[in-house]
Amino acid sequence: EKLNHILDTHALLELDGFGEKREMEIRQSLEHFLSGMNKKARLLYPEASALANKLCEFIATNASVKSVTPLGSLRRKKETIGDIDVAVSTEDIPGTIKHTLTYPDITHVEDKGTSKITVLLNNAVQTDVRFVEPEKYGAMVQYFTGSKYHNIRLREYALQKGYSLSEYGIKIARGETKMYTFKTEREFYKFLGLDLIPPEMREDTGEIELAEKHDLPVLVEETDIKGDLHIHSNFPYASSHDLGRSSLDELAQKALLLNYEYIGISDHNPKFSGQTHRAINAVMKGRKKYYEQLLDSSRSVQKNTKKLKVYIMLEIDIRADGTLALPDDGFSYIDAAIVSIHASFEQAKDVMTARILRGLSYPKVKIFAHPTARMLGSREGIQADWSTIFDFCASHHIAIEINSSPQRLDLPDDLVREAVQRGAMFIINTDSHHVDHMDLMTYGIGVARRGWLQKRDILNTRGQEEFETWLLKG
Ligand SMILES: [Zn+2]
Ligand SMILES: [Zn+2]
Repeated sequence: EKLNHILDTHALLELDGFGEKREMEIRQSLEHFLSGMNKKARLLYPEASALANKLCEFIATNASVKSVTPLGSLRRKKETIGDIDVAVSTEDIPGTIKHTLTYPDITHVEDKGTSKITVLLNNAVQTDVRFVEPEKYGAMVQYFTGSKYHNIRLREYALQKGYSLSEYGIKIARGETKMYTFKTEREFYKFLGLDLIPPEMREDTGEIELAEKHDLPVLVEETDIKGDLHIHSNFPYASSHDLGRSSLDELAQKALLLNYEYIGISDHNPKFSGQTHRAINAVMKGRKKYYEQLLDSSRSVQKNTKKLKVYIMLEIDIRADGTLALPDDGFSYIDAAIVSIHASFEQAKDVMTARILRGLSYPKVKIFAHPTARMLGSREGIQADWSTIFDFCASHHIAIEINSSPQRLDLPDDLVREAVQRGAMFIINTDSHHVDHMDLMTYGIGVARRGWLQKRDILNTRGQEEFETWLLKG
């Protein structure tokens, strides 16, 4: 605030060596810092999820505990989380509360009631833990999972049928005082004539109507995934962006552990500006040879198991004018291309849209990666005419990526929903720069489920042969 005041009064301009430009720079970095701080108040989903799961595991070690689950936006897998909420089903509420309060990461107890405690975890994250008898667990979990809009709509729906809902159970709205209780959410929804609605769908965007017609989509699961096509390896070269840190063999080994049938090695395009086409093509040729020799060597995992197919791909910048940062000849050294935006984020909507469509028009382009280029907590997504882009992808057999990197989670869930309604196909990738990142797939799956995607909408749920037909020919 003090700095803001100084800037407003232009006091800095009176100092030696301070020009208006410098003052503006300080103002911009202050604004950037403040907006960063406001957004930092929310945790990224994986951070909150890790904190909550660790707490849940601790609570579950108590013998009286039947079930424990995170609630709210965490259970619905939103990309950022405010507070953590947890529900505990237990036959001994006072004993379980006592046990929970011995959890080592609790740094402060804000409130301790007879069925709920509010604590701080690691001095930072406010966490409510609710304790309930097993008979009432279903209604409580339903109530505190939300969303608010889902619950409002569900209350209206129930009222039309003559029921009133609460965190304790369901009552006949008029007359009778009996409370119907539910051990599980499934029983709760069933009482209302509805199928169990996956938490990720509970936003009041049509899910209650589908549950009533027993017509809910079967959402994609992590075990449906058969490959990861956006992985950076440690092949050494003058790259346009950062290199990966793991070798092809480490990546292949990990892929087999994950039961994948195929992976794509998608390093960034070689450094483009200031380089001759001939020099770039030489790098591309050398890279292809390097990978082919590795894959062929008798020590390679891929050769020995023959169970994993490795595609030599490339992540290519869509430059500000829409041209791709690779000479035409360079495309002959790859199986397929991923294209994405890594600079000039601020273009006007129509300029940006034309830029993207031009970039997508090159041969061998099969995936549009992290489409909005947002960075949660630090950079807003680009402005573009998304319906035009989705239509183009749908009609040109180009997959739209859901990037599982926790700071990206891009395409965002609301746009996923729009894209699939327009007939676009998806691919869920990790954008790994280290072998450990290949485990991040679960977060992309969360976004896909929030976007209502089914297995059939996602290309890397297909078996290797069917996938290859799309990648190399489709
Ligand atoms: Zn990228
Ligand atoms: Zn990448």
